[in-house]
Amino acid sequence: MSELKLFNSLTRKLETFQPVHSGEARVYTCGPTVYNYPHIGNMRAYVFADVLGRTLSWKGYKLTHVINITDVGHLTDDADSGEDKLEKAAAEKAQSIWEIARHYTEAYWADVKALNIREPAKWSVATDYIDEMLEFAKQIAPRHCYELDSGLYFDVSTVDDYGRLARAVTEEGEGRIETVEGKRNAADFAIWRKTPAGETRQMEWDSPWGRGAPGWHLECSVMGGKLLGFPFDIHTGGIDHREIHHPNEIAQNQAFCCTNGLEVAENSGARIWMHNNFLVERSGKMSKSSGEFLRLQLLIDKGYHPLAYRMMCLQAHYRSELEFSWEGLQAALTRLKRMVMAVRKWWAIHEETGGPVYGDAWERNGETVALLERFDAALANDLNTADALTALDECLALKRGDSNCILSAVARMDFVLGLNLIDLTRADLRIRPKSAQITEDEIETALAKRKEARAAKDFATSDAIRDDLAAKGVEVMDGDPLGWEWKLA
Ligand code: AMP
Ligand code: ZN
Repeated sequence: MSELKLFNSLTRKLETFQPVHSGEARVYTCGPTVYNYPHIGNMRAYVFADVLGRTLSWKGYKLTHVINITDVGHLTDDADSGEDKLEKAAAEKAQSIWEIARHYTEAYWADVKALNIREPAKWSVATDYIDEMLEFAKQIAPRHCYELDSGLYFDVSTVDDYGRLARAVTEEGEGRIETVEGKRNAADFAIWRKTPAGETRQMEWDSPWGRGAPGWHLECSVMGGKLLGFPFDIHTGGIDHREIHHPNEIAQNQAFCCTNGLEVAENSGARIWMHNNFLVERSGKMSKSSGEFLRLQLLIDKGYHPLAYRMMCLQAHYRSELEFSWEGLQAALTRLKRMVMAVRKWWAIHEETGGPVYGDAWERNGETVALLERFDAALANDLNTADALTALDECLALKRGDSNCILSAVARMDFVLGLNLIDLTRADLRIRPKSAQITEDEIETALAKRKEARAAKDFATSDAIRDDLAAKGVEVMDGDPLGWEWKLA
């Protein structure tokens, strides 16, 4: 097995993974802010964290993964201005904030399930940790914070190397927006935000700095430290978090742990910081404020299996920007179909030969052993899933070898890729678009009649059936190399 190397955003280097606790891997992933449905870009962050977690498990580490649910504190602007995203959504929808949080948390979990993202050891909900946040804040306040009318602020000049992760901030905090009057440094940020006089919040708590709510960065420091212990192994998030949220988390962690400069990475609270790049979409449909934004459900409504989106993510390296297009998604679906059909073919052979459970049969075949080594080397190289998929393709295309070897190798690879290849069937992949006016049964019946007509050389009837199906949005795919026969457009 190859040595696992991961790119650390803090040191900007590829580093060999060395666990803090022997044999274990403790990972914290910044979770969603549950004020709206996640868009598919958000879900890229969790597919990436899932692949990381699965790779650590594959490498034999006992994984403890925590993903938080942000139900308080995240403002509409990352730079301490604007409204709390959840308070705003609740006011707009005239609903309780708790209902809003529940609804969107469940929607997020549905996407997690559909994308075959493994459940973490813990979903930590921010509002369950208010007492711990207050304790943390009290501990760091005397040496690192100051009070303004609007709340308690963290003075970033009190820790070494503030902003090293972002590398974009000058000493004066240039490039940052100083939106709160009286801050000592432009990059200072709120630890506790007081509810302004005359305003009421649905979510507020008493604190030594007045009634109010915690700042967003505080929650992740508190939950990460409490649930995984400082320093833990890996902290993940989207690349936007490299600029503000994570530098602020790091500053809080340094204050809490009384650690010095960040040339020693674990002084930051975690040994490795990893960030996925963005999924981009040129026409602005990724914005949650646009009417029909790109949710996973929209893809499903249009007839795409959600794992086609997972495939799309896996085809790109997590540190590269990925451009979304329907053509790209279609290509990913085609690749997934191809793999599913190949696995089904091997299954058919397996059942025919009455083969026993395939177990670890891959070990008996030199070719599958070599492919699994290549697969492992790809993942060990900073999670190169694109190369790992190529090894899987080659495994499915092997000409020699028995079904036991191939299926056991595929099952092993799919443990990391999470495409559900062993169980998915062609029928599962046929997702009916929401707008379809015809059922699968009706299509199959019509196609059976067409087949009879063709056998009887009654081409007029056969063409009429085809035209009728086309009018209902069904494309008949004669001679499709994948044997797909039809698709709903
Ligand atoms: P949020 O719910 O806004 O806190 O974001 C959840 C996660 O999605 C964070 O890790 C973000 O960094 C990440 N994220 C946001 N937009 C995108 C995008 N377009 N592509 C990939 N990740 C994203
Ligand atoms: Zn976070």
